[in-house]
Order: sequence, then C-alpha cells, then structure tokens
Amino acid sequence: MIKKSTETPEMYLGEGFGLTRLDKVVGLARANSIWPLPFATSCCGIEFMATMAATYDLGRFGAERLSFSPRQADLLMVMGTIAKKMGPILKQVYVQMAEPKWVIAVGACASSGGIFDTYSVLQGIDKVIPVDVYVPGCPPPPEAILDGILKIQELMKNEPLNRRSSEEYRLLMDKYGID
Ligand code: SF4
Repeated sequence: MIKKSTETPEMYLGEGFGLTRLDKVVGLARANSIWPLPFATSCCGIEFMATMAATYDLGRFGAERLSFSPRQADLLMVMGTIAKKMGPILKQVYVQMAEPKWVIAVGACASSGGIFDTYSVLQGIDKVIPVDVYVPGCPPPPEAILDGILKIQELMKNEPLNRRSSEEYRLLMDKYGID
C-alpha cells in the first residue's frame, strides 16, 4: 500500500524558529491540496472510481476534492478514449483552468490512442494540450494512477515559482496555440 508522504521542506532550524524557501512552501501546499478534474470518457474512468473509493482513497494525498468546473481545478486527469471530435472540447476545458495547472494522461488511450489506431481517435491528448505525466496501462490499475499522482506531486513541489511566466513556458503554450 502506498503511504502518504509527510516530508517537510528543507529547513534551517534555529532555537524556536525554522527558515526555508518560499518556493518550497508554496510547492508543498500545492502538492497536498490538489483539485482534480476527472475528464473520463470510458473504461479508464472506472479505474479512477476505484482509486477514489475507500481501499485506495485518493484523499490520503489531499486530492479528494474533485472539481467538475475547470475554473476550480488545477489537475486535469484525462481518462479514456478521446475521439478527434472531442479534442477541441478537451482543449477548451484546459484553457478554462486557471494557472498553475497540470495534466495527467491516464491509460494507453489518453496517452497514445491505445489500441484504437483509427481515423476517428486522437492518437494521444498531447496532440491538443501539454501533458505532464503519462500513466501506462490498459487499463492502468489504481496503483498506477496513484503513482501518477505521486509524480505530479513531485513536479508541483519542485516547480520554480517563475516557471509559468518564463519564455520556455510561453513557447510551449504557443506550440499548442494557447494564448
Ligand atoms: S486504455 Fe484501455 S481501459 Fe483505458 S480507456 Fe483505453 S481501452 Fe479502456
């Protein structure tokens, strides 16, 4: 069973006080208060339901508050086969989310189109939006989804505070035609 991390940021400890860096504290807060938006279109969504339920309990990671409104979410979890017609809708949901935001492609279909190498299926959601973490499997078991959440938490904890205003990030958004 995966246990919730209780790590504290690097700190200089003195008598009755501790000093640390602002980006470490912000990262820790972001990583332990995730508001995921489940964008589930097919079977991988069922695995996510199991991940939310009591046995695996995503709430242990501070991520139990699901949001079905993009404006109140910071983690887009895409689970299932995404048809090309769905691509612009997925992109609109992503654009409506406020910064900072992250994306997990859960399962083979979201990551690469999976077994559906057909004219109608998007061959990976990274054709329309940037992806931070890919979770392999068809379907990925709850353990794999939790592993994806842990990897996103690591990204959140270690992201520089100025990344979203950097030239590199601007170029990434330009690549996807996002203002
Ligand atoms: S990866 Fe497999 S389990 Fe997940 S949506 Fe695609 S076909 Fe279904």
